[in-house]
Amino acid sequence: MRIDLHAHSTASDGTDSPETLMMEAAAAGLDVVALTDHDTTAGWEAAAAALPPGLTLVRGAELSGRWYGGEPTVGLHLLAYLFDPGYEPLVAELTRVRRSREHRAEKIVALLNADGIDVTVPEVQAYAAGGTVGRPHLAQALIRRGLVATVDEAFAPEWLGRRYRLAKVDIDVFTAIRLVNEAGGVSVLAHPRADVRGHIVPDTLIAELAAAGLWGVEADHIDHSTADRVHTQLLARKLGLRFTGSSDYHGTNKTVRLGTFTTDPLVYEEMIATATGTTPVTGS
Ligand SMILES: [Zn+2]
Ligand SMILES: [Zn+2]
Repeated sequence: MRIDLHAHSTASDGTDSPETLMMEAAAAGLDVVALTDHDTTAGWEAAAAALPPGLTLVRGAELSGRWYGGEPTVGLHLLAYLFDPGYEPLVAELTRVRRSREHRAEKIVALLNADGIDVTVPEVQAYAAGGTVGRPHLAQALIRRGLVATVDEAFAPEWLGRRYRLAKVDIDVFTAIRLVNEAGGVSVLAHPRADVRGHIVPDTLIAELAAAGLWGVEADHIDHSTADRVHTQLLARKLGLRFTGSSDYHGTNKTVRLGTFTTDPLVYEEMIATATGTTPVTGS
């Protein structure tokens, strides 16, 4: 059984529609795929309706969390699975974070315009195709202008990496874990040692998160070295957490393929036995 618990669609910053993503998952030989768009459940319905026979969909999201307990604060991503999408306190937090993304994109466009770079808000929104506007959509606009060649280049310090970077609103990570648990879901800390995506999450903080109800940690990820993977697996064992492996697939926005890393079926079985917010759905 091949299980990939982390993939993005056009509901956030992936390039495949939820429907296409399900087809791609089946074509990649997966038995189970999780849809984990940033701060939204918008792709759930379309993905569930498009499931090829035999493919199981785990409905999830990747929450933009932050630890505010020190200086500097630490941004981190929290994968949330099988939670009730109608649980109002969680819905409110996701809406707040998505609105702040829209405002941030507008402000970055204004900064670019002030420097004579002719990018527009409707254009950036069009790249988001109705999903949450994110920095990859700003990157698309820069690529179309011929200012950079790739999304990676757009994230360099002279562009979105520093010069045109603005702080965003995140969810307090302890609040996020509590809300996911209250909504009947389980939470898994995403790529904790992926320093290319921000800070490495300190082991001491992971221990606090475990004590606060974190369910697991993503050990096997493309942005982790072999040493990082082993370290995270051992830490999970020490803290009584489960560990997962997944691709963090984004379509053509990143080069990683579906199923590059996978999760132990026993961990998956435990996940679906624990979560009560919603159930996996299998195509018939
Ligand atoms: Zn992430
Ligand atoms: Zn992700």
